Amino acid sequence: NVRVRFAPSPTGPLHIGGVRTALYNYLFAKKHNGTFILRIEDTDQTRYVANAEQYIIDALNWCKIPFDEGPGKDGGFGPYRQSERKSLYKKYADILLEKGWAYYAFDTAEQLDAHRKGNEVEGKTFIYNWCNREKGDLVNSLVLSEEEVQKRINSGEKFVIRFKSYNGNPDARSILSISDEIRGRVSIDVKLLDDKILFKSDGMPTYHLANIVDDHLMKISHVIRGEEWLPSMALHILLYQAFGWDAPKFAHLPLILKPVGKGKLSKRDGDKLGFPVFPLEYTNEETGDVSRGYKEDGYFADAFINMLAFLGWNPGTEQELFSLEELIKEFDLKRVSKSGAKFNPDKTKWFQQQYMQTKSDAELTELYIPILEEKNISKEKTYVEKVISLIKERAVFIEDFWELSSFFFEAPTEYDAKNVKKNWKEGTPELMQELIAVINNIENFSSENTESKIKAWITAKEIGFGKVMQPLRLSLVGKLAGPHLFDIIAMIGKQETVARLNNAIE
Ligand code: GLU
Repeated sequence: NVRVRFAPSPTGPLHIGGVRTALYNYLFAKKHNGTFILRIEDTDQTRYVANAEQYIIDALNWCKIPFDEGPGKDGGFGPYRQSERKSLYKKYADILLEKGWAYYAFDTAEQLDAHRKGNEVEGKTFIYNWCNREKGDLVNSLVLSEEEVQKRINSGEKFVIRFKSYNGNPDARSILSISDEIRGRVSIDVKLLDDKILFKSDGMPTYHLANIVDDHLMKISHVIRGEEWLPSMALHILLYQAFGWDAPKFAHLPLILKPVGKGKLSKRDGDKLGFPVFPLEYTNEETGDVSRGYKEDGYFADAFINMLAFLGWNPGTEQELFSLEELIKEFDLKRVSKSGAKFNPDKTKWFQQQYMQTKSDAELTELYIPILEEKNISKEKTYVEKVISLIKERAVFIEDFWELSSFFFEAPTEYDAKNVKKNWKEGTPELMQELIAVINNIENFSSENTESKIKAWITAKEIGFGKVMQPLRLSLVGKLAGPHLFDIIAMIGKQETVARLNNAIE
Protein backbone atom coordinates (compact mmCIF):
# COMPACT_ATOMS: atom_id res chain seq x y z
CA ASN A 1 0.00 0.00 0.00
CA VAL A 2 1.88 3.05 -1.24
CA ARG A 3 1.56 6.15 0.95
CA VAL A 4 3.92 9.04 0.32
CA ARG A 5 4.09 12.52 1.73
CA PHE A 6 5.33 15.92 0.78
CA ALA A 7 6.39 17.56 4.03
CA PRO A 8 7.36 21.19 3.50
CA SER A 9 8.14 23.60 6.29
CA PRO A 10 6.05 26.73 5.80
CA THR A 11 8.97 29.13 5.89
CA GLY A 12 8.25 30.90 2.61
CA PRO A 13 7.21 30.21 -0.95
CA LEU A 14 7.84 26.82 -2.47
CA HIS A 15 10.50 27.02 -5.14
CA ILE A 16 10.90 24.67 -8.07
CA GLY A 17 12.95 22.22 -6.00
CA GLY A 18 10.05 21.84 -3.60
CA VAL A 19 7.48 21.54 -6.36
CA ARG A 20 9.58 18.87 -8.03
CA THR A 21 9.68 16.88 -4.78
CA ALA A 22 5.91 17.19 -4.57
CA LEU A 23 5.54 16.17 -8.23
CA TYR A 24 7.70 13.05 -7.91
CA ASN A 25 5.77 12.04 -4.79
CA TYR A 26 2.51 12.62 -6.64
CA LEU A 27 3.60 10.65 -9.73
CA PHE A 28 4.88 7.79 -7.60
CA ALA A 29 1.66 7.66 -5.59
CA LYS A 30 -0.60 7.75 -8.64
CA LYS A 31 1.48 5.18 -10.50
CA HIS A 32 1.00 2.73 -7.65
CA ASN A 33 -2.61 3.62 -6.86
CA GLY A 34 -1.35 5.05 -3.63
CA THR A 35 -2.03 8.10 -1.51
CA PHE A 36 -0.29 11.46 -1.74
CA ILE A 37 -0.22 13.29 1.57
CA LEU A 38 0.62 16.89 2.41
CA ARG A 39 2.07 17.34 5.86
CA ILE A 40 2.98 20.78 7.13
CA GLU A 41 6.15 20.65 9.23
CA ASP A 42 5.75 23.76 11.31
CA THR A 43 7.47 22.83 14.55
CA ASP A 44 10.07 25.55 14.16
CA GLN A 45 7.95 28.50 15.21
CA THR A 46 10.79 30.98 14.73
CA ARG A 47 10.81 30.37 10.98
CA TYR A 48 7.05 30.17 10.52
CA VAL A 49 5.54 32.38 7.80
CA ALA A 50 1.79 32.88 7.90
CA ASN A 51 0.91 32.87 4.19
CA ALA A 52 3.30 30.07 3.25
CA GLU A 53 0.95 27.12 3.83
CA GLN A 54 -1.76 28.60 1.64
CA TYR A 55 0.85 29.36 -1.00
CA ILE A 56 1.96 25.71 -0.97
CA ILE A 57 -1.61 24.48 -1.37
CA ASP A 58 -2.37 26.99 -4.13
CA ALA A 59 0.80 25.99 -5.95
CA LEU A 60 -0.05 22.28 -5.86
CA ASN A 61 -3.54 23.04 -7.09
CA TRP A 62 -2.29 25.22 -9.93
CA CYS A 63 0.09 22.42 -10.98
CA LYS A 64 -2.90 20.03 -10.85
CA ILE A 65 -1.12 17.73 -8.43
CA PRO A 66 -3.51 18.00 -5.48
CA PHE A 67 -2.97 16.00 -2.30
CA ASP A 68 -5.32 13.20 -1.24
CA GLU A 69 -4.80 13.79 2.47
CA GLY A 70 -3.66 16.92 4.24
CA PRO A 71 -4.91 20.04 5.97
CA GLY A 72 -8.65 20.23 5.36
CA LYS A 73 -8.72 16.75 3.75
CA ASP A 74 -8.66 14.23 6.54
CA GLY A 75 -7.97 10.66 5.55
CA GLY A 76 -7.97 9.26 9.05
CA PHE A 77 -4.34 10.11 9.83
CA GLY A 78 -4.70 13.76 10.76
CA PRO A 79 -4.13 16.35 11.91
CA TYR A 80 -1.63 17.10 9.16
CA ARG A 81 0.01 20.13 10.70
CA GLN A 82 2.71 19.23 13.17
CA SER A 83 1.83 22.20 15.36
CA GLU A 84 -1.56 20.53 15.87
CA ARG A 85 0.09 17.22 16.78
CA LYS A 86 2.28 18.82 19.43
CA SER A 87 0.90 16.83 22.37
CA LEU A 88 1.81 13.59 20.70
CA TYR A 89 5.57 13.79 20.43
CA LYS A 90 6.59 13.93 24.10
CA LYS A 91 5.33 10.39 24.58
CA TYR A 92 7.72 9.16 21.91
CA ALA A 93 10.66 11.02 23.37
CA ASP A 94 9.78 9.33 26.69
CA ILE A 95 9.76 5.89 25.05
CA LEU A 96 13.32 6.44 23.86
CA LEU A 97 14.37 7.75 27.28
CA GLU A 98 12.94 4.64 28.85
CA LYS A 99 14.63 2.32 26.40
CA GLY A 100 17.95 4.03 27.01
CA TRP A 101 18.13 5.42 23.45
CA ALA A 102 17.86 9.00 24.58
CA TYR A 103 18.96 11.15 27.49
CA TYR A 104 18.40 14.58 29.01
CA ALA A 105 21.07 17.21 28.52
CA PHE A 106 21.28 20.57 30.29
CA ASP A 107 24.24 22.24 28.62
CA THR A 108 23.67 25.92 28.04
CA ALA A 109 24.37 27.56 24.72
CA GLU A 110 27.41 29.26 26.28
CA GLN A 111 28.79 25.98 27.57
CA LEU A 112 28.41 24.32 24.18
CA ASP A 113 30.04 27.30 22.53
CA ALA A 114 33.00 27.07 24.86
CA HIS A 115 33.42 23.40 23.95
CA ARG A 116 33.30 24.22 20.29
CA LYS A 117 35.91 26.93 20.64
CA GLY A 118 38.11 24.71 22.83
CA ASN A 119 38.06 22.02 20.17
CA GLU A 120 38.82 24.49 17.44
CA VAL A 121 42.03 25.44 19.23
CA GLU A 122 43.05 21.81 19.09
CA GLY A 123 42.03 21.63 15.44
CA LYS A 124 39.11 19.28 16.08
CA THR A 125 35.40 19.59 15.54
CA PHE A 126 33.28 19.25 18.60
CA ILE A 127 30.71 16.50 18.24
CA TYR A 128 28.27 15.86 21.06
CA ASN A 129 28.34 12.06 21.12
CA TRP A 130 29.80 8.92 22.71
CA CYS A 131 33.38 10.21 22.66
CA ASN A 132 32.73 12.97 25.16
CA ARG A 133 29.18 12.88 26.51
CA GLU A 134 30.05 10.77 29.55
CA LYS A 135 33.31 12.45 30.45
CA GLY A 136 31.83 14.83 32.95
CA ASP A 137 32.42 18.17 31.29
CA LEU A 138 29.09 17.88 29.50
CA VAL A 139 25.96 18.18 31.61
CA ASN A 140 23.58 15.34 30.90
CA SER A 141 21.66 12.55 32.55
CA LEU A 142 24.38 10.03 31.70
CA VAL A 143 26.67 11.70 34.25
CA LEU A 144 24.16 13.24 36.66
CA SER A 145 22.24 11.22 39.21
CA GLU A 146 18.57 10.56 38.65
CA GLU A 147 17.64 12.89 41.54
CA GLU A 148 19.81 15.65 40.18
CA VAL A 149 18.14 15.31 36.77
CA GLN A 150 14.67 15.47 38.33
CA LYS A 151 15.65 18.45 40.46
CA ARG A 152 16.86 20.40 37.43
CA ILE A 153 13.75 19.60 35.42
CA ASN A 154 11.43 20.47 38.32
CA SER A 155 13.18 23.76 38.91
CA GLY A 156 12.42 24.73 35.31
CA GLU A 157 15.97 24.49 34.01
CA LYS A 158 16.14 24.34 30.22
CA PHE A 159 16.85 20.89 28.84
CA VAL A 160 16.95 19.00 25.59
CA ILE A 161 16.48 15.31 24.94
CA ARG A 162 19.26 13.90 22.77
CA PHE A 163 19.40 10.69 20.80
CA LYS A 164 22.14 8.25 21.78
CA SER A 165 23.46 7.59 18.31
CA TYR A 166 26.19 5.19 19.40
CA ASN A 167 26.64 3.65 22.77
CA GLY A 168 30.43 3.66 22.84
CA ASN A 169 30.63 -0.03 23.61
CA PRO A 170 33.62 -1.37 21.67
CA ASP A 171 31.56 -4.39 20.62
CA ALA A 172 28.70 -2.36 19.24
CA ARG A 173 28.30 -2.39 15.49
CA SER A 174 29.34 1.00 14.24
CA ILE A 175 28.94 0.63 10.49
CA LEU A 176 25.35 0.97 9.40
CA SER A 177 24.49 -0.12 5.90
CA ILE A 178 21.50 1.76 4.55
CA SER A 179 19.84 1.67 1.20
CA ASP A 180 18.42 4.42 -0.98
CA GLU A 181 16.12 3.67 -3.92
CA ILE A 182 18.09 6.04 -6.13
CA ARG A 183 21.61 5.83 -4.77
CA GLY A 184 21.80 2.21 -3.73
CA ARG A 185 23.65 1.13 -0.59
CA VAL A 186 25.47 3.64 1.54
CA SER A 187 27.62 2.74 4.55
CA ILE A 188 27.64 5.13 7.46
CA ASP A 189 29.97 5.12 10.42
CA VAL A 190 27.62 5.68 13.32
CA LYS A 191 30.56 6.68 15.52
CA LEU A 192 30.77 9.94 13.62
CA LEU A 193 27.16 10.96 14.17
CA ASP A 194 26.01 13.72 16.48
CA ASP A 195 23.63 12.94 19.28
CA LYS A 196 20.92 14.96 17.62
CA ILE A 197 18.40 16.85 19.70
CA LEU A 198 14.96 15.23 19.56
CA PHE A 199 12.99 17.38 21.94
CA LYS A 200 13.28 20.74 23.62
CA SER A 201 12.02 22.03 26.95
CA ASP A 202 9.62 24.39 25.13
CA GLY A 203 7.57 21.27 24.50
CA MET A 204 8.37 21.10 20.81
CA PRO A 205 9.99 18.16 19.08
CA THR A 206 12.74 18.84 16.57
CA TYR A 207 12.31 18.04 12.89
CA HIS A 208 13.94 14.61 13.26
CA LEU A 209 11.64 13.27 15.95
CA ALA A 210 8.43 14.74 14.58
CA ASN A 211 9.28 13.64 11.06
CA ILE A 212 9.84 9.99 11.81
CA VAL A 213 7.03 9.70 14.36
CA ASP A 214 4.63 11.14 11.80
CA ASP A 215 5.95 9.02 8.95
CA HIS A 216 5.37 6.00 11.16
CA LEU A 217 1.91 7.03 12.38
CA MET A 218 0.82 8.07 8.90
CA LYS A 219 2.00 4.70 7.55
CA ILE A 220 4.33 6.27 5.02
CA SER A 221 5.77 3.59 2.73
CA HIS A 222 8.30 5.70 0.80
CA VAL A 223 10.11 8.86 1.80
CA ILE A 224 10.90 10.77 -1.39
CA ARG A 225 12.71 14.02 -0.64
CA GLY A 226 15.60 16.27 -1.62
CA GLU A 227 19.24 15.31 -1.44
CA GLU A 228 19.82 17.79 1.39
CA TRP A 229 18.19 15.25 3.69
CA LEU A 230 20.52 12.39 2.74
CA PRO A 231 22.83 13.08 5.70
CA SER A 232 19.83 12.64 8.05
CA MET A 233 18.93 9.24 6.68
CA ALA A 234 21.25 7.28 9.00
CA LEU A 235 19.81 9.00 12.07
CA HIS A 236 16.29 8.35 10.83
CA ILE A 237 17.00 4.65 10.28
CA LEU A 238 18.54 4.47 13.77
CA LEU A 239 15.43 6.09 15.21
CA TYR A 240 13.19 3.51 13.52
CA GLN A 241 15.40 0.77 14.93
CA ALA A 242 15.32 2.31 18.39
CA PHE A 243 11.53 2.37 18.36
CA GLY A 244 11.39 -1.12 16.89
CA TRP A 245 9.45 0.10 13.86
CA ASP A 246 9.84 -0.86 10.21
CA ALA A 247 11.46 1.96 8.30
CA PRO A 248 9.94 3.20 5.06
CA LYS A 249 11.98 3.05 1.86
CA PHE A 250 14.01 6.18 1.13
CA ALA A 251 14.67 7.97 -2.14
CA HIS A 252 16.77 11.15 -2.21
CA LEU A 253 16.31 13.31 -5.29
CA PRO A 254 19.26 15.04 -6.96
CA LEU A 255 19.95 18.71 -6.37
CA ILE A 256 18.72 21.26 -8.87
CA LEU A 257 21.72 23.28 -10.05
CA LYS A 258 21.99 26.86 -11.24
CA PRO A 259 21.80 27.32 -15.03
CA VAL A 260 25.12 29.14 -15.01
CA GLY A 261 28.04 28.83 -12.66
CA LYS A 262 28.22 26.33 -9.88
CA GLY A 263 26.03 25.26 -7.05
CA LYS A 264 22.48 24.75 -6.03
CA LEU A 265 19.68 26.82 -7.50
CA SER A 266 18.53 29.16 -4.77
CA LYS A 267 15.37 31.10 -4.18
CA ARG A 268 17.26 34.28 -5.01
CA ASP A 269 18.60 33.13 -8.38
CA GLY A 270 15.33 33.67 -10.17
CA ASP A 271 14.94 37.39 -9.86
CA LYS A 272 18.69 37.87 -10.23
CA LEU A 273 18.93 35.95 -13.49
CA GLY A 274 15.63 37.14 -14.91
CA PHE A 275 13.42 34.06 -14.73
CA PRO A 276 10.99 32.78 -12.14
CA VAL A 277 11.89 29.94 -9.77
CA PHE A 278 8.50 30.04 -8.03
CA PRO A 279 5.32 28.49 -9.42
CA LEU A 280 3.18 31.42 -8.28
CA GLU A 281 3.94 35.03 -7.54
CA TYR A 282 4.82 35.52 -3.90
CA THR A 283 4.58 38.59 -1.74
CA ASN A 284 6.79 38.66 1.30
CA GLU A 285 4.43 40.16 3.85
CA GLU A 286 7.26 41.56 5.94
CA THR A 287 9.30 43.28 3.28
CA GLY A 288 6.60 43.72 0.65
CA ASP A 289 8.96 42.20 -1.93
CA VAL A 290 7.23 40.44 -4.80
CA SER A 291 8.84 37.45 -6.51
CA ARG A 292 7.64 36.48 -9.97
CA GLY A 293 5.83 33.24 -10.62
CA TYR A 294 5.55 30.94 -13.63
CA LYS A 295 1.80 31.33 -13.61
CA GLU A 296 1.88 35.12 -13.79
CA ASP A 297 4.70 35.01 -16.33
CA GLY A 298 2.24 33.24 -18.60
CA TYR A 299 3.37 29.63 -18.43
CA PHE A 300 0.88 26.81 -18.72
CA ALA A 301 0.86 24.57 -15.66
CA ASP A 302 1.26 21.45 -17.80
CA ALA A 303 4.33 22.89 -19.56
CA PHE A 304 5.82 23.79 -16.19
CA ILE A 305 5.14 20.30 -14.84
CA ASN A 306 6.60 18.64 -17.94
CA MET A 307 9.76 20.72 -17.53
CA LEU A 308 9.97 19.86 -13.82
CA ALA A 309 9.52 16.14 -14.44
CA PHE A 310 12.68 16.20 -16.56
CA LEU A 311 14.73 17.92 -13.86
CA GLY A 312 16.29 14.75 -12.54
CA TRP A 313 14.30 12.09 -14.37
CA ASN A 314 14.09 10.89 -17.95
CA PRO A 315 12.02 8.20 -19.63
CA GLY A 316 14.97 6.59 -21.40
CA THR A 317 13.52 7.45 -24.81
CA GLU A 318 13.59 10.48 -27.07
CA GLN A 319 10.08 11.57 -26.11
CA GLU A 320 10.01 14.88 -24.25
CA LEU A 321 6.37 15.87 -24.21
CA PHE A 322 4.37 14.08 -21.58
CA SER A 323 0.93 14.76 -20.27
CA LEU A 324 0.43 14.24 -16.55
CA GLU A 325 -1.25 10.89 -17.30
CA GLU A 326 1.73 9.79 -19.38
CA LEU A 327 4.14 10.91 -16.67
CA ILE A 328 2.25 8.82 -14.15
CA LYS A 329 2.54 5.82 -16.46
CA GLU A 330 6.23 6.26 -17.21
CA PHE A 331 7.59 7.56 -13.93
CA ASP A 332 10.06 5.29 -12.20
CA LEU A 333 12.40 6.05 -9.29
CA LYS A 334 14.96 3.83 -11.01
CA ARG A 335 15.25 6.41 -13.78
CA VAL A 336 15.88 9.31 -11.40
CA SER A 337 19.50 10.42 -11.66
CA LYS A 338 21.97 10.55 -8.82
CA SER A 339 23.80 13.60 -10.08
CA GLY A 340 22.53 17.17 -9.90
CA ALA A 341 20.13 18.38 -12.58
CA LYS A 342 21.01 21.67 -14.26
CA PHE A 343 18.03 23.96 -14.51
CA ASN A 344 17.61 25.49 -17.95
CA PRO A 345 15.17 28.40 -18.25
CA ASP A 346 15.34 28.31 -22.07
CA LYS A 347 14.18 24.73 -22.04
CA THR A 348 11.22 25.80 -19.93
CA LYS A 349 10.31 28.27 -22.62
CA TRP A 350 10.68 25.54 -25.23
CA PHE A 351 8.18 23.38 -23.33
CA GLN A 352 5.82 26.34 -23.13
CA GLN A 353 6.04 26.86 -26.89
CA GLN A 354 5.38 23.19 -27.55
CA TYR A 355 2.36 23.20 -25.27
CA MET A 356 0.99 26.29 -26.97
CA GLN A 357 0.78 24.29 -30.19
CA THR A 358 -1.00 21.39 -28.52
CA LYS A 359 -3.77 23.54 -27.00
CA SER A 360 -7.00 23.66 -28.95
CA ASP A 361 -8.08 26.93 -30.57
CA ALA A 362 -11.22 26.86 -28.46
CA GLU A 363 -9.25 26.57 -25.23
CA LEU A 364 -6.93 29.41 -26.23
CA THR A 365 -9.91 31.52 -27.22
CA GLU A 366 -11.23 31.33 -23.68
CA LEU A 367 -7.89 32.68 -22.48
CA TYR A 368 -7.70 35.42 -25.09
CA ILE A 369 -11.21 36.80 -24.74
CA PRO A 370 -10.62 38.44 -21.34
CA ILE A 371 -7.59 40.25 -22.80
CA LEU A 372 -9.69 41.47 -25.72
CA GLU A 373 -12.45 42.56 -23.37
CA GLU A 374 -9.96 44.66 -21.47
CA LYS A 375 -9.30 46.45 -24.73
CA ASN A 376 -13.04 46.88 -25.25
CA ILE A 377 -13.05 44.55 -28.20
CA SER A 378 -15.94 42.18 -28.52
CA LYS A 379 -15.93 39.71 -31.38
CA GLU A 380 -17.71 36.40 -31.89
CA LYS A 381 -15.91 33.39 -30.49
CA THR A 382 -15.67 31.80 -33.92
CA TYR A 383 -13.82 34.83 -35.24
CA VAL A 384 -11.34 34.83 -32.32
CA GLU A 385 -10.85 31.09 -32.77
CA LYS A 386 -10.00 31.57 -36.42
CA VAL A 387 -7.53 34.34 -35.55
CA ILE A 388 -5.83 32.06 -33.05
CA SER A 389 -5.50 29.27 -35.58
CA LEU A 390 -3.67 31.71 -37.85
CA ILE A 391 -1.21 33.11 -35.27
CA LYS A 392 -0.70 30.42 -32.70
CA GLU A 393 2.42 28.88 -34.23
CA ARG A 394 4.28 32.12 -33.62
CA ALA A 395 3.14 32.50 -30.02
CA VAL A 396 4.87 31.36 -26.87
CA PHE A 397 2.58 33.02 -24.33
CA ILE A 398 -1.05 34.13 -24.40
CA GLU A 399 0.38 37.60 -23.80
CA ASP A 400 1.94 37.42 -27.29
CA PHE A 401 -1.46 37.11 -28.95
CA TRP A 402 -2.26 40.81 -29.08
CA GLU A 403 1.06 41.74 -30.64
CA LEU A 404 0.52 38.99 -33.23
CA SER A 405 -3.11 39.68 -33.98
CA SER A 406 -4.18 43.23 -33.12
CA PHE A 407 -4.76 43.99 -36.85
CA PHE A 408 -7.52 41.38 -36.97
CA PHE A 409 -9.45 43.56 -34.54
CA GLU A 410 -8.48 47.13 -35.29
CA ALA A 411 -6.84 49.15 -38.04
CA PRO A 412 -3.17 49.95 -37.56
CA THR A 413 -2.67 53.27 -35.79
CA GLU A 414 0.87 53.64 -37.04
CA TYR A 415 2.96 52.33 -39.89
CA ASP A 416 6.48 50.97 -39.67
CA ALA A 417 8.44 54.01 -40.94
CA LYS A 418 11.46 52.17 -42.25
CA ASN A 419 9.40 49.88 -44.41
CA VAL A 420 7.08 52.63 -45.54
CA LYS A 421 10.11 54.47 -46.85
CA LYS A 422 11.30 51.36 -48.66
CA ASN A 423 7.98 50.23 -50.10
CA TRP A 424 5.64 53.19 -50.37
CA LYS A 425 6.96 54.85 -53.51
CA GLU A 426 5.85 57.32 -56.08
CA GLY A 427 2.90 55.82 -57.86
CA THR A 428 1.95 53.62 -54.93
CA PRO A 429 -1.15 55.66 -53.97
CA GLU A 430 -2.49 55.40 -57.53
CA LEU A 431 -1.75 51.70 -57.59
CA MET A 432 -3.61 51.22 -54.31
CA GLN A 433 -6.51 53.24 -55.69
CA GLU A 434 -6.73 50.84 -58.61
CA LEU A 435 -6.47 47.90 -56.20
CA ILE A 436 -9.45 49.25 -54.27
CA ALA A 437 -11.50 49.10 -57.44
CA VAL A 438 -10.37 45.50 -58.04
CA ILE A 439 -11.28 44.55 -54.48
CA ASN A 440 -14.67 46.23 -54.72
CA ASN A 441 -15.42 43.98 -57.63
CA ILE A 442 -14.63 40.75 -55.86
CA GLU A 443 -17.86 39.01 -54.86
CA ASN A 444 -16.67 35.90 -53.10
CA PHE A 445 -14.35 37.22 -50.40
CA SER A 446 -12.70 33.92 -49.43
CA SER A 447 -8.94 33.87 -48.94
CA GLU A 448 -8.44 31.71 -52.06
CA ASN A 449 -10.66 33.80 -54.28
CA THR A 450 -9.23 37.22 -53.32
CA GLU A 451 -5.76 35.75 -53.76
CA SER A 452 -6.41 34.51 -57.27
CA LYS A 453 -8.26 37.71 -58.34
CA ILE A 454 -5.64 40.11 -56.98
CA LYS A 455 -2.75 38.03 -58.28
CA ALA A 456 -4.36 37.83 -61.73
CA TRP A 457 -4.68 41.61 -61.77
CA ILE A 458 -0.99 42.07 -60.77
CA THR A 459 0.09 39.60 -63.46
CA ALA A 460 -1.97 41.36 -66.07
CA LYS A 461 -0.41 44.68 -65.12
CA GLU A 462 3.02 43.14 -65.57
CA ILE A 463 4.46 44.64 -62.40
CA GLY A 464 6.35 42.83 -59.61
CA PHE A 465 4.21 41.27 -56.87
CA GLY A 466 6.16 43.15 -54.22
CA LYS A 467 5.05 46.49 -55.59
CA VAL A 468 1.49 45.69 -54.60
CA MET A 469 1.82 43.17 -51.83
CA GLN A 470 4.17 45.17 -49.58
CA PRO A 471 2.14 48.42 -49.56
CA LEU A 472 -1.01 46.36 -49.18
CA ARG A 473 0.39 44.57 -46.13
CA LEU A 474 1.64 47.84 -44.67
CA SER A 475 -1.82 49.36 -45.13
CA LEU A 476 -3.64 46.48 -43.48
CA VAL A 477 -1.17 45.42 -40.76
CA GLY A 478 1.02 48.49 -40.25
CA LYS A 479 4.19 46.41 -40.59
CA LEU A 480 5.63 43.68 -42.76
CA ALA A 481 4.63 40.85 -40.46
CA GLY A 482 1.75 38.56 -39.73
CA PRO A 483 0.14 35.52 -41.32
CA HIS A 484 -0.78 34.96 -44.97
CA LEU A 485 -2.09 38.30 -46.24
CA PHE A 486 -5.15 36.90 -48.01
CA ASP A 487 -6.20 35.16 -44.82
CA ILE A 488 -6.13 38.55 -43.12
CA ILE A 489 -8.14 40.11 -45.96
CA ALA A 490 -10.75 37.37 -45.81
CA MET A 491 -11.04 37.76 -42.07
CA ILE A 492 -11.42 41.52 -41.84
CA GLY A 493 -13.69 41.63 -44.90
CA LYS A 494 -14.10 43.85 -47.92
CA GLN A 495 -15.30 47.02 -46.23
CA GLU A 496 -12.50 47.08 -43.67
CA THR A 497 -9.85 46.22 -46.27
CA VAL A 498 -10.94 49.12 -48.43
CA ALA A 499 -11.20 51.48 -45.46
CA ARG A 500 -7.62 50.65 -44.35
CA LEU A 501 -6.33 51.16 -47.89
CA ASN A 502 -8.05 54.57 -48.05
CA ASN A 503 -6.56 55.45 -44.69
CA ALA A 504 -3.09 54.59 -45.88
CA ILE A 505 -3.45 56.56 -49.10
CA GLU A 506 -4.26 59.73 -47.21
N1 GLU B 1 10.26 19.57 6.55
C1 GLU B 1 11.32 19.05 5.73
C2 GLU B 1 11.54 20.05 4.60
O1 GLU B 1 11.14 21.15 4.74
C3 GLU B 1 10.92 17.68 5.23
C4 GLU B 1 12.05 16.80 4.83
C5 GLU B 1 11.54 15.40 4.61
O2 GLU B 1 10.84 15.20 3.61
O3 GLU B 1 11.80 14.52 5.41
O4 GLU B 1 12.10 19.78 3.58
